[in-house]
Amino acid sequence: MFKINKNYLNLRGSYLFSTIAKKVEAFTKENPDKKVIRLGIGDVTQPLTPTILKALHNAVDEMGKAETFHGYAPDLGYSFLREAISKHDFEEKGIQIAPDEIFVSDGAKSDSGNIQEIFSTDCKVAVCDPVYPVYVDTNIMSGRTGKWVGDDSTGKWSDVIYLPCTEETNFAPELPKEIPDLIYICSPNNPTGSAMTKDQLQKWVDFANENKAVIIYDAAYEAYISEDNVPHSIYECAGARSCAIELHSFSKNAGFTGVRLGFAVVPHDLKDSDGVELHSLWARRHGTKFNGAPYIQQRAGEAVYSSEGQKEVKGLVSYYMENAAMILKGLKEAGYKVSGGVNAPYVWLKTPDNMTSWDFFDHLLKHANVVGTPGSGFGPSGEGYFRLTAFGTHENTIAAMERISKM
Ligand SMILES: *Cc1c(COP(=O)(O)O)cnc(C)c1O
Repeated sequence: MFKINKNYLNLRGSYLFSTIAKKVEAFTKENPDKKVIRLGIGDVTQPLTPTILKALHNAVDEMGKAETFHGYAPDLGYSFLREAISKHDFEEKGIQIAPDEIFVSDGAKSDSGNIQEIFSTDCKVAVCDPVYPVYVDTNIMSGRTGKWVGDDSTGKWSDVIYLPCTEETNFAPELPKEIPDLIYICSPNNPTGSAMTKDQLQKWVDFANENKAVIIYDAAYEAYISEDNVPHSIYECAGARSCAIELHSFSKNAGFTGVRLGFAVVPHDLKDSDGVELHSLWARRHGTKFNGAPYIQQRAGEAVYSSEGQKEVKGLVSYYMENAAMILKGLKEAGYKVSGGVNAPYVWLKTPDNMTSWDFFDHLLKHANVVGTPGSGFGPSGEGYFRLTAFGTHENTIAAMERISKM
């Protein structure tokens, strides 16, 4: 009789979004006349831009002709894309990342979930709290997290080192007392919308190098950074090449959530205590389990880096950041304590009157018919906070703020 990977039975991930869906469904059934506005989504709403569409169409046409047809892509990505990434995302910012250190993938979710495979199962994991749920869930699947201790919404995994990011820490993670092996950092952050400054990140890089830990740095929201002292890449910090893996996505900057494209950076300087390069392990893993991101998508990714493409995707980012500014302003005027929304398309608010995150969810749905995401769903330190996203349309965002102001 076969046996399953029992670690999967420990997963609790679906609690957050399935509970939201159930609550919204029940509300709309009871109140069919009310128009619910969803500001809980972590998905883009604006269509792909003309330059990207053109690149997609061209690539499709190429696939229809014998002379330009493409079969399996190279496992690690086409050179045209890896070179464009190396040049625009790194070289132009004064960072040395060679095309050969870039691994093209189908997105940052896969990379952030899969990267733990190349580490021993007894590695100690540290995560920002609150955090993007994929990091913890994939480590649960691998058996690194221990036991769940506490109740549904504010419990913790016994073997995970939580790095609280709250008002008290200015929403940045602080160095832990216990030494981790793998450190997940997402900056600008989903869900809090806060971003670490270069000085703050440098402390983590130094800490990781001193303790022989690896930082898995999720830069999915890099394009949303507006402040000068916030780094666009962890490799802006001295010493990061020997301790950090960086993950990027085309989803949030260029609207590729339904197209699928991302990349991981694994520098050659990143080695274990025996001198084994993580680069060679990740290359081997890609070669064995991944047959390359599609040619069509990679041509679309290349178009993002063209000068027209850059103008257009900056337009998308501005569109969402105008929403973020409206949400920040609206909530502040309504008397809420807010953060984020300046370097990320997420606004993080403190629930009023010491309401729990879920109480505020119910309150907002009932009185403003607006759906957001309870902070406690992202980790124990998210309790008492709430996330609104800037990925809606201008119209819905304006309407939501009007309703909240009258609440
Ligand atoms: C949206 C998101 C991703 C997912 O990126 P894909 O490239 O679409 O898989 C990764 N990390 C964070 C923090 C995200 O919010």
